[in-house]
Amino acid sequence: MAKKQFKTESKRILDLMVHSIYTHREIFLRELISNASDAIDKLYFRSLTDPSVGMSREDFAIDLTADKDARVLTIRDNGCGMTKEELENNLGVIARSGTLDFKKNNELGDDIDIIGQFGVGFYSAFMVAKKITVESRAFGVDEAWQWESTGEDGYTITPCEKADAGTCITLVLKDNEGEDNYDEYLSEYRISSLVKKYSDYIRYPIRLDMPRSRKKEGTENDWETYTENTVLNSMIPVWRKGKDELEDGEYERFYQEKFHDMEAPLKTIHTKVEGSVTYTALLYIPKKPPFDFYSKEYHKGLQLYTNGVMIMDNCEDLLPDYFGFVKGLVDSADLSLNISREMLQHDRQLKVIAANLQKKIRAELLKMQKEERETYEEFYNSFGLTLKYGVYTGYGQNKQTLQDLLMFHSMKQNKLVTLQEYTDAMPQEQTEIYYACGTSVEQITRLPQLERIADKGYDVLCLTQDVDEFALKMIETFAEKPFRSAADSSLALESDEEKAKVEEKTEAGKEMLSALQEALGDKVDEVKLSSRLKSNPVCLTSEGDLTLDMEKVLNAMPMEQKVKAKRVLEINAEHPIFDTLCAAAGDRDKLAKYAQLLYTQAMLIEGFPVEDPVAYSNLVCELMSQQK
Ligand code: ADP
Repeated sequence: MAKKQFKTESKRILDLMVHSIYTHREIFLRELISNASDAIDKLYFRSLTDPSVGMSREDFAIDLTADKDARVLTIRDNGCGMTKEELENNLGVIARSGTLDFKKNNELGDDIDIIGQFGVGFYSAFMVAKKITVESRAFGVDEAWQWESTGEDGYTITPCEKADAGTCITLVLKDNEGEDNYDEYLSEYRISSLVKKYSDYIRYPIRLDMPRSRKKEGTENDWETYTENTVLNSMIPVWRKGKDELEDGEYERFYQEKFHDMEAPLKTIHTKVEGSVTYTALLYIPKKPPFDFYSKEYHKGLQLYTNGVMIMDNCEDLLPDYFGFVKGLVDSADLSLNISREMLQHDRQLKVIAANLQKKIRAELLKMQKEERETYEEFYNSFGLTLKYGVYTGYGQNKQTLQDLLMFHSMKQNKLVTLQEYTDAMPQEQTEIYYACGTSVEQITRLPQLERIADKGYDVLCLTQDVDEFALKMIETFAEKPFRSAADSSLALESDEEKAKVEEKTEAGKEMLSALQEALGDKVDEVKLSSRLKSNPVCLTSEGDLTLDMEKVLNAMPMEQKVKAKRVLEINAEHPIFDTLCAAAGDRDKLAKYAQLLYTQAMLIEGFPVEDPVAYSNLVCELMSQQK
């Protein structure tokens, strides 16, 4: 019988498994038990509607046996089993794809750690076994099949005998080698503590057959061996346990196993609600976004249980998109077992639960923002973007829910602040909330447009993500204060006296200014003198609703139609450059060159690319040569 080869990716995982470090090995048992439990779930679920299954809840179990002499550990379940094709497809490749991508994308630690934390399902058994045999019979199928592999050189699939549906996995443990002792996985104590640690909540009994000896009845000193069958797990789901029944870190461990996260969650929210709708929710806020979080592959959702039985793995309707990062589950006795995805969408109970959860998550986040600022900042760095998208994509309809959760970098305080904190700290006469956009806080704080605002003692929110300005536009006002871009050409912070001075100079430089504007053609809509600037000679501002930064973001999107903000080139009336320009007033050719120079500089400051770098460079050199 020909050996089949593993798929390439699986081979790599296998190789990692075989060479994994000691401390990670123990997770193999939880992986196999979890598979067994899933398989039972499937058949049990079917039994609820299909009488031909002929089994009730009490009939299902996961059985472990440990044979110390043969060094063999078996894990048997009476779940749905696998057909020949399923054996081939499920065990011939790594199911949890994405694990390796994760490694590539994040370069977090080494491969080995990924195994330790994630587990890679069935394959992890190769960390402890030199040979694995899987005998399986799918429910409703007459034949049974055996899959066998020693890991290195592929696997075989042959027919076998098996009386009932289900799967039996036989592990021949590796030989002990120096420090590496695999016998521990045959010890009753070790097995039962591993089950307690990782699989206690499994809803079917996990039983261990262990040989015991006892005195033969009626004899003094005659011993016999018998097998005692012990149930190792409490079968109580973590979310149904009372506080005093919970072991240290049990919530966190449950999260890491169930949701395959390398790290403990940032926050655990456990809530029990009784009333018109009764439910328990166990929610988690992860520390970091999953590797696919900001991609189409990511599906938000919570697991849905009714009375401890999972009825849906990923119920999307329980979470709004902007809280899509929340992981966890809801258990409610009010939901029907046989409810379909379509029916759920219209389920009144579910809508009530979803609305409650949204309030609860928001309240917990606000509490964290207030009481655990550092943790909140960590959260915000991971998921703030989703909240901002939430404000934007809802056309502002979610702003009441989300605006208090937002934070932006304050130029004055040099840290993240909430909108409330910004407005609370505003000087009395300040009437607007100022913001400026850029690629980084450092770049923004150097923007010439901000000098004046800062001078007045006003704070500026530094927006560094594309969506930021769009989100603020949707919020429109906060505490009755409108948001205003620092690069808005109509921003009027100057005194009457300053205004008069600018007007006077504008009058004097009228011809020169119109020459500049003419030279720039449709590149700018206006060239004007202003007192906005202090030490800097020029800047680019925009007029109207569409700002330069929005233009940048919109034009970066794959759209046919490009947009253009109304550009205003502002020249500092108090800067020596003004005199230089006035001195060249009669020389239109020179003014045209100066116009190009000033415009390009303003564009550079704004972070736009130079249209023609060679021409710009030549122009600078030409003007330098004339200075001789
Ligand atoms: P995962 O459990 O993450 O899908 P595994 O490698 O552990 O990855 O398992 C691959 C697949 O093999 C499972 O999704 C399941 O379909 C099947 N499988 C594994 N163990 C069993 C079992 N005991 N009974 C039935 N099917 C199983």
